[in-house]
Amino acid sequence: MANNILTMDKLVNHCKQTGFVFRGSDIYDGLANTWDYGPIGVELKNNIKRAWWKRFVQESDNSFGVDAAILMNSRVWDASGHTTSFSDPKIDCRECKMRERADNIIEEYANKHNISVVVDKMSNSEMEAFIAEHKINCPKCGKHNWTNIRQFNLMFETSRGVTDDNQNKIYLRPETAQGEFVNFLNVQRTTRAKVPFGIAQIGKAFRNEITPGNFIFRTIEFEQMEHQWFCKGEDGSKFYDQYKKQAYDFLIDLGFNKDSLRFKDHDKLAHYAAAACDIQYLFPMGWSELNGIHNRTDYDLSRHQEFSGKTMQYLDPVTNEKYIPNVIEYSIGCDRLLLATLCNAYDEQKLENGETRVVMHFAPVVAPYKVAVLPLQKDLNAKAREIYKKLQKHFMCTIDEAGSIGKRYRRQDQIGTPMCVTIDFDTISDNTVTIRDRDTMEQIRLPIDELISYVQNKLVF
Ligand SMILES: [Zn+2]
Repeated sequence: MANNILTMDKLVNHCKQTGFVFRGSDIYDGLANTWDYGPIGVELKNNIKRAWWKRFVQESDNSFGVDAAILMNSRVWDASGHTTSFSDPKIDCRECKMRERADNIIEEYANKHNISVVVDKMSNSEMEAFIAEHKINCPKCGKHNWTNIRQFNLMFETSRGVTDDNQNKIYLRPETAQGEFVNFLNVQRTTRAKVPFGIAQIGKAFRNEITPGNFIFRTIEFEQMEHQWFCKGEDGSKFYDQYKKQAYDFLIDLGFNKDSLRFKDHDKLAHYAAAACDIQYLFPMGWSELNGIHNRTDYDLSRHQEFSGKTMQYLDPVTNEKYIPNVIEYSIGCDRLLLATLCNAYDEQKLENGETRVVMHFAPVVAPYKVAVLPLQKDLNAKAREIYKKLQKHFMCTIDEAGSIGKRYRRQDQIGTPMCVTIDFDTISDNTVTIRDRDTMEQIRLPIDELISYVQNKLVF
């Protein structure tokens, strides 16, 4: 939509003013890279999660959900490789003590000077050499006096019980995927699922990032929506392609503009991965990852078999073949999708009377409120309350009795309420109401009895 008019600052301000997102711990001057969802933000977020779950669990013939614990046995992270290799290359400025990611410093410099480098493929010493050779200075103090690069583990550590020796060290999970992997056989056994089948999870994950976040794009605490598809190795690439299409279609159905989405294959594959790509979205700060699709081969389940000593093999009931399934992983950050949804929906329109309206063109299924009830006069408030009560049984609604009708429409437009129902004196005599459409601003007259099914039809996803 109208991405050219949207800057991140404008969006952050809009979210703060309307109640989508507030700065975390706001009255204490915040905590870097944390954000709190407000009254309409939490509705939007819950609706996004429900739409995703509906598409990838409810409407999938062979997918099942789990909700695993955030705290997992630390051996899980040994098996997944996170304890040894989940780290960022960190470099410190000796002059001003600023800590930065070396790869980011190089990338920024390379972009600015039109130098082509693939930072993901560089070793620490290659990055150190690049920074020295190009005399890259500290972005904060401008001096060139760097430490060596050290790897900085991104997992949040905590400890269990009263002592804090290594025996008791546990981690806040840095990804939700392991919760699906460790439950592979539990889910298979209890659902009697046959491979291929999927396990989905929505849940929080935590990463000790030192990178500035771009609002809710990158946060230290975030929610992931993940779907792991377990299949035979030879079917991996077929399902990988299928997921690319499904993931893309989901975004299009949520109202995303084709021009603001693109596929990007990974430059550097993990050693075990057969294929990996992202769908990127054109955010105000540029093209950035929105979701990932990976063909992870049988790496995850094999590692858990090795580290747990428990078999992860699936026994095919027809062929009697025993094997460890491959995994196709589809992962999308809920907060990141919410940010993209906000960016995609944001619009400013000049009205005939010269005013400008800010309007959020959300797909009705994710809009925070589905209906706003607006009585035209004080005498009609009781009737409006009666209709509001009726609608509340079915949808998230709001009622607004104060101010001019134009002002009230503007308030609903800027939080993306798709339908406004106005109550006037005819409502009392003939039991009809006016429904105004958010996007076209057109109005129709409808009997109150038909209101609920009318709204329901708009919410089909
Ligand atoms: Zn410095």
